[in-house]
Amino acid sequence: MTDFEPDDYSPDTLALHAGHTPDRDTLSRAVPIYQTTSYLFRDTGHAADLFELKKPGNIYTRLSNPTTDALEKRLAAIHGAAGAVATSSGMAAIFYAVAAITSAGQNFVTGDKLYGGTYTQFCFPLKRFGIEARFVDSRDPADFEQAIDENTRLLYTESIGNPKGNVDDIEGIAEVAHRHKIPLIVDNTVAPPPLFNPFEHGVDIAVYSLTKMIGGHGTSLGGAVVDKGDFDWKAAGRYPEITEPDLAYHGVNFWERFGNHEKAVTPGLAYLLKIRLGLMRDLGAAPSPFNSWLFIQGLETLPLRARAHVANAAAVARFLREHPAVTSVDYAGLPGHPDYERARYYFPLGPGAVFGFEIKGGVEAGKRFINAVRLASHVANILDAKTLVIHPASTTHQQLSPEEQLNAGVTPGLIRISVGIENLEDILGDLDQALRRSQEATTEEA
Ligand SMILES: *Cc1c(COP(=O)(O)O)cnc(C)c1O
Repeated sequence: MTDFEPDDYSPDTLALHAGHTPDRDTLSRAVPIYQTTSYLFRDTGHAADLFELKKPGNIYTRLSNPTTDALEKRLAAIHGAAGAVATSSGMAAIFYAVAAITSAGQNFVTGDKLYGGTYTQFCFPLKRFGIEARFVDSRDPADFEQAIDENTRLLYTESIGNPKGNVDDIEGIAEVAHRHKIPLIVDNTVAPPPLFNPFEHGVDIAVYSLTKMIGGHGTSLGGAVVDKGDFDWKAAGRYPEITEPDLAYHGVNFWERFGNHEKAVTPGLAYLLKIRLGLMRDLGAAPSPFNSWLFIQGLETLPLRARAHVANAAAVARFLREHPAVTSVDYAGLPGHPDYERARYYFPLGPGAVFGFEIKGGVEAGKRFINAVRLASHVANILDAKTLVIHPASTTHQQLSPEEQLNAGVTPGLIRISVGIENLEDILGDLDQALRRSQEATTEEA
């Protein structure tokens, strides 16, 4: 099988074709589901070559699988990146991305407005392993710079914060990272291409929960680490896990064999191979081939769905801003949001489809709204094709004190909405009736 020649095609086309050529035996047009754990070795020499990384090929599905490989190549192609490693969840991708280049006693600097699961992973398990996350206000790249010391191994942030919809100065943060010869990792779950390509703005490594817009239909958990492939781990001089012989994999030197230089067998893959052979092999959060196949189906319509999500989101945000039952809307695509100008620069199609808005009447009105929606689904998820809503104060953030809630940007009447791709009038009609119901008891009580 040869790879599709991706160089000249746009991401919209690559999302449908990259990473797969119909195989000669079956001529199957769709990517097949290779539901297998293991692969035949032709003979002992072939087996030895595979284990020695002398030849590309599959050994065991924890390390690689042809269906997952098509997904990884397609993800890399829509980003113009060197490669990708798919994982069984977004949380696993984030852990691998960080743990591949940090050890006990080292630290990394991260923006503070993170997805809740990421925040707890950084604060608890990583901390227990001796890896320190230093949280800074992500609005100012100078805050990242101040927290860096000689043990800092990476900078981390998200492309659009949730639920505040903050858009930070990604290029400024990347510039700080590169001045200190460390990579910038960005979680781009909420704005995959064509909405935002992190590698066009200085980011070195992107992490994803494929569970959200890329899968797109709320059916499967998955994640990915995507590497642009041009970070110079050798020149940085502080990543021995990549640039020195790896005892965990009989002395392979990932940089010499796969680094971004002319002598490499396949350049640009050193960091990803460290993840695949050092973390995936030993910790095992491999995706199931079936889920990889579902993510491939998602990728094929991602460009269409992404545009439909953001077009609906912009219209819903404008509608909510004018609604008498709504006091504020935190959508960076609305003039008046503090990051409006930056959002226009980074997200010309629109800054995602997940944002928060505040209902008049606090906690009780928020609950009444949620109980009144009929089309929108009340779930703890985002970026399903369907419109989703949640009231953080009574659900995701209920265990925090009122003060902690406010620090996390969670006000009593805050609703988080993930705008789906249903007919716009139907979404607006549902929101309008639920907003009116949210105010009813307040008027009766008054
Ligand atoms: C959902 C999510 C994750 C975690 O992904 P899972 O697939 O649920 O493990 C990480 N980051 C962001 C921004 C998310 O929305």
